[in-house]
This record gives sequence, C-alpha cells and structure tokens, in this order.
Amino acid sequence: WKHAPTDLRALLGISRFHGDKIFLVYEDEHLTFEEHFRRVATLAGRLIEDYGVTKGDRVAIAMRNYPEWSIAFSAVLACGAVAVPLNAWWTEPELAYGVSDSGAKVLIADGERAVRLLGTGVPLIVVRGEAPAGARTLGDVLGEVRPDVTLPEVDLSPEDPATIFYTSGTTGHPKGALGSHRNLGQSPMTVAYGLMRAVTMAGLDPAQAAAVRRVTLLAVPLFHVTGCFSALTTTMFTGGGLVLMYKWDAGKALRLIERERVTTMIGVPTNAWQLMSHPDFGSHDLSSLTTLGYGGAPAPPKLLERITANLPGRAPSNGYGMTETTALAIGNAGGDYHGRPDSIGRPTAVVDVRVVGPMGAELPPGEVGELCVRGPNVILGYWNKPEATAETFVNGWLHTGDLARIDEEGFVYIVDRAKDMVIRGGENVYCAEVEAALFEHPAVDDVAVIGVPHDELGEEVGAVVRLTPSATATEEELRTFLTGRIAAFKIPEHVWLRDTDLPRNPGGKILKTHLRREILGG
Ligand code: ATP
Ligand code: MG
Repeated sequence: WKHAPTDLRALLGISRFHGDKIFLVYEDEHLTFEEHFRRVATLAGRLIEDYGVTKGDRVAIAMRNYPEWSIAFSAVLACGAVAVPLNAWWTEPELAYGVSDSGAKVLIADGERAVRLLGTGVPLIVVRGEAPAGARTLGDVLGEVRPDVTLPEVDLSPEDPATIFYTSGTTGHPKGALGSHRNLGQSPMTVAYGLMRAVTMAGLDPAQAAAVRRVTLLAVPLFHVTGCFSALTTTMFTGGGLVLMYKWDAGKALRLIERERVTTMIGVPTNAWQLMSHPDFGSHDLSSLTTLGYGGAPAPPKLLERITANLPGRAPSNGYGMTETTALAIGNAGGDYHGRPDSIGRPTAVVDVRVVGPMGAELPPGEVGELCVRGPNVILGYWNKPEATAETFVNGWLHTGDLARIDEEGFVYIVDRAKDMVIRGGENVYCAEVEAALFEHPAVDDVAVIGVPHDELGEEVGAVVRLTPSATATEEELRTFLTGRIAAFKIPEHVWLRDTDLPRNPGGKILKTHLRREILGG
C-alpha cells in the first residue's frame, strides 16, 4: 500500500480482508465487504476520469443512511479528495449553503436530495432515483464493476484533509469541521477499544464478546461523526455488520435487533430511551444485544437505571464527543459508570483534557470551567473560518464550549454548555442539572430547560416538559417534586406541559433556539 498507515485507503485495504462477510444491511439488501470495495474503487476511478476530481477537491454527499453513502464517502477519500457529508434534513437553501461553503466540485445525492440540489449547477450523481436532466445515476457512472479493480494511486499523508463535517448547529450556524486522515484513522481503534472495554467493565466475558461477530444497529445519521466514525469506519475495521435505517423508528429498531441478531446499538441517549418505552419492547427477542453505546447529548442518570432494570446484563456506555473531536473523546462504562452515572467518564487513550478559567488558566480539580481537549482526534480547524478557528483552537487545545469539572480521579462531569446556562439574578443555573432532576419524575418523558427573559433577574428558569403518554402531572406537582432535590433558585418559575415531541435535530439534540422562539416568540 502506497499511503500513510492511517488514511481511509488503509482502512479499505483492511476491510477487504473481511471479503464475503456482510458489511452493510439496509432493508432486505445485504452488501459484502468485497462488493463494497469494488464499488468504491470503481467510483473512485470514475470520479478522477469523468469528473476530473483531484487531491484536495471537495465532493459533497447528501443522502439518507443508504449503503451508497458509504460507497460515496469511501470513494471520495480514496481519490484523495475531501468528503463533505451534508445534512439530509437540510432545506434547499441550507443545502445550497453547504455546497457553496465547501466549494464542492461534484455532488452525490439520493433522489430526494437531488431535486433540492439542482439549483446549485454543480455536476450531480444520483443514487436511488432518476437523474434529472444533466445529471447521471450512480449505476450509469459505475458502469461495469470489475472484480480486479484496484484503488487509484494517490499520495496521501496523515495530515491531509479528508472530511468536512458540519457541526449540529445547536448554538448557531453549523461550522464546517475540517478533519484529516489521521483524525479518522485513529477513530476505529479508539471506538473498538472503547466498546470492548465497556463489555469487560460490565463483567461480560471479553473472549465470548470477541468471538461473536459485532452487528451494529445505527440509530443516527451517517452525516454526523457518530454515525460515520463510531459506527461506519469502525465496522470497516473490525469486520462486523452495520444495519442502517432510513430514519430512526423504535418499533423498527426492535424488529431489526431480533432479525439481524444485533449486538450493539449506537445512537443518542434518546434512542435507548425510546427503545425501552416502545409498547413492543417486551415482545421481541433482544438476547443478542450486549452493548448500548450512546452520546452526543446529555444522558440523564435515570437512563442508566432504566437500562439496568429493563436490559440487565448489558454493557451501556456514555460517550462524549464533538464534530471537532472526530466523535468519541471521553467515555464512561461499567462499574465506573454505575458509580458515577452523572459523569461522562475519562478521556480515551489518545486524548488529554483540562478545564480552564475565563483567562485560559488551568483550574484545579472540582472547579467548573471550560473543557479543553487535545489529541490526534482533534480536527485541523474550521473550513473557511479563520477567526472561529483561532478562537476555538488555542495552542493545540480545542475549546469545547462546554462547562465541566474534573474530579481527583480524572472523571469528567459536563455541567452545561457555556451558551446554555441560565443566569438568574447572578446565580448560574445549569440547564442540564435541572433537566436531569426533572427526568427523575416518572411522568416526565422529555424535558428542555431554557432561560426566560426577566426584567429584574435578567433571566428566570423555564422548563418545557413532554409528559409520558397516559401519565399526568401538574406544574405544581413537578415543582414540589424538585423541592429538596435542587436549590430553590434553580426550580423553574415557568413550566410548559405538552404532549407533543420537543423539536430535535436529526442528531437527536433539542433545538433550544427553536423552542425559545416557539415558546417565547421573537
Ligand atoms: P454547534 O457546535 O454547531 O453549536 P453542536 O455542538 O451540537 O453544534 P456537535 O459537534 O454535534 O455539534 O455536538 C457536540 C456537543 O454535544 C458537545 O460540545 C456537547 O455539548 C454535547 N455532547 C456530546 N456528547 C455528550 C455527552 N455524552 N454528554 C453531554 N453532552 C454531550
Ligand atoms: Mg459545538
């Protein structure tokens, strides 16, 4: 192999050794590692020859979780170009922004996205749908897929850019996170080790767990780093299977776990929660499921309790990561997690962490400040945003924008997002803490705490609560419930009860800006 040891081409080389094993499952379709490799190598050749794609060019991908997502992603990286996964939920103007911001030379999109991308005028390859005038279908581009096809020759070094993933946009406009081949190359090792560690720490037999082929059900989109790195590239490396869903559906997930003998589910905390709340939960054979990995958003300690009660003998793990950390950076599992259910655990082997004060000085254990992360998983910077890059990446440390404390043993506790905190009459109220306390109430199915403008106090605390179907609770009951659990000044002055879902982005994060607008107007 003429390439750096950590680039995606090396990973594809490894994936080929898994040959005839099933790699990707979608509905009734099964794609083997070898079939995947041949399509990837063929498409990479066509991108170079038909579209003139060269090293460093950007190629955008806009698709749901189809197997072709992986083929497109891998092919783009295999020719030394930069893959730009776009959010499939984006509207036409948002997609157009992603295309122009990244300066994409070619677009690979599914039929639904293709019609929204036509206006960009960029050459388009269409997957699962008809090609509009001027575009070509993937089948047409691929032509004959030969068994002896090889990857095109490209010289890559580990620091070469590989991906531009857009951040979720929880705190503002999504930013393009420019990741290198080294960033993605370390992810399978970090994640595979993390999952194996979760298994051994849960007291399960590691030899038995290793002997069973890992089949992962992916509950979240591939266009976010959790899907791409914690699931897709890790599966390429380990030779397991990856079960894809067009969109998250708890009932369908239960059926797929049974049908595909799924061993691992990867998603956000809400996915695990909804799986257990589903009316069909008790009527499926879930005995194959050993590992539940979730992260990307705060996991209330009650989630761990529910998993322990409803899915005993499994290995749950809470992973903290950002687009900027190429997914997993800090994780908690096993006895550590049971002992400290409110902690995100300790950094992975490749990551250093520290907490700093407003002037950037490192704080002693126990003090709350901004969490900073350093390591080979931290991206190169933001695409086209030199100012944001300079602000966020300082002397090799990524400033996460999350408020955290680290205890004497090195366990990290996320206190809140710096931008999410409510300041009530000069007192800091961490939304995440109030949310976790409200989650303890049996009638609470979902909750988001927001700041409500107040003339005298600056802000008051507000809670938007979705009640568990068929459960009842009044605002007053919830407030009484919180009394004694959290300090009086943190108890929400305003409680909005509802029976509809809270607005979430496809990554499962509550869109507080939408919620604030919806509830408070403006
Ligand atoms: P944007 O940066 O565009 O505002 P975002 O920060 O939501 O959006 P992501 O990179 O998808 O975009 O998410 C990273 C953030 O998610 C972290 O900074 C943190 O706030 C939150 N997060 C991730 N994992 C966990 C976890 N296990 N527990 C608590 N919070 C988490
Ligand atoms: Mg962020």
